[in-house]
Amino acid sequence: MFYHSFLIKYAEIGTKGKNRYIFEDALMHDIRHKLNKIDGEFAIQKEQGRIYVNAKTEYEYDDVIDALSRVFGITGICPMMQIEKCGYDELREKVLAFVKEEHPEQSFSFKVHARRADKHYPVNSDIINADVGYDILCAYPEARVDVHHPDFIVYIEVRQKINVYTRVLPGAGGMPMGTNGKAMLLLSGGIDSPVAGYMIAKRGVTIEAVYFHAPPYTSERAKEKVVELARLVARFSGPIKLHVINFTDIQLYIYEKCPHDELTIIMRRYMMRIAERLAEQDDCIGLITGESIGQVASQTMFSLRVTDEVCELPVYRPVIGFDKQEIVDLAEKIGTFETSILPYEDCCTIFVAKHPVTKPNLKSIQKSEKKLSERIDELFEAAIASDEIIWCDK
Ligand code: ATP
Ligand code: MG
Repeated sequence: MFYHSFLIKYAEIGTKGKNRYIFEDALMHDIRHKLNKIDGEFAIQKEQGRIYVNAKTEYEYDDVIDALSRVFGITGICPMMQIEKCGYDELREKVLAFVKEEHPEQSFSFKVHARRADKHYPVNSDIINADVGYDILCAYPEARVDVHHPDFIVYIEVRQKINVYTRVLPGAGGMPMGTNGKAMLLLSGGIDSPVAGYMIAKRGVTIEAVYFHAPPYTSERAKEKVVELARLVARFSGPIKLHVINFTDIQLYIYEKCPHDELTIIMRRYMMRIAERLAEQDDCIGLITGESIGQVASQTMFSLRVTDEVCELPVYRPVIGFDKQEIVDLAEKIGTFETSILPYEDCCTIFVAKHPVTKPNLKSIQKSEKKLSERIDELFEAAIASDEIIWCDK
């Protein structure tokens, strides 16, 4: 079946009062961006609380659904028949023909849900419900009406035109891209941080990312893996500006000067400081990490408190309360898992102590960091200067 049109349903943004058009425009912008990447031409139209995608050429159905299902802010995608207003008998015939194409199976339960937004149409919604229901029952002797849990609902919306659809495919939910400021994601090659980026992007936040690279301890392939992860997140979030920072000298210096059981926590504090500097340069108003309480020594409540002490910006940790399996499930759903588990080393695994502190003491960490005073400012600036920017998009 070739659908000329798709009705786009969106929920949360419908409640934004006077600013509603900002959300709708952002949603349309993202729909256009995603559809531009597939074959076919589409017109995107807005009409009183509705967005329509109309196909102007041939297209692959699966590609359109895949693209639309990655647009944050959409709650439902309805492939539909859209017809010009016509006489009532003709409408009934067309609806029945559409249902026959959509549902060739003989036995099903259904319900008809008509809405007459155009009150000039001569027949009201109750009558449409009853008549179309009757038509379907006559055409399908084994079908039955079930108003509570039908297999499908035949929606008929009488507006400027008439929309008819029986399928509502799930959308990604969330808020339209770019409607909630920008944040800097600390993106490693692991499972958690891409998921964290996805979750915050889902709330309409534009994502920028930073990866701390430690050549030659971390390979070019480890960096490529992070670039690929950023691209995979960008399939949902839109293009991501990724900063690759050379962190080697800072790590070596910490390794040389500080107690080894404090290495991880001190390195994390420097990552946060650098991320914050980059964030401020690019007007990001928050940091995002993939930390989850208790997952490793650097993610105990005590460690997180010590990490946060160096940050002025709020740090968002959307997977903070998730078990590993819950993060893995989400990583699989968004398609980052397979890449995340590729076995390339991560910069922290090389410099980790055998027995890192799990209850770091802030005073003691601050004291250890004093041992870095001679060169750390210079190394910090050199790290910032090493910034390699890679735009990641897919
Ligand atoms: P992930 O699966 O996201 O790598 P993890 O469980 O391996 O997380 P850690 O290595 O302790 O956890 O890192 C915690 C968080 O710190 C990561 O989720 C990420 O946000 C950030 N992070 C760690 N290493 C790096 C890095 N090399 N570059 C950028 N961010 C990093
Ligand atoms: Mg990691």
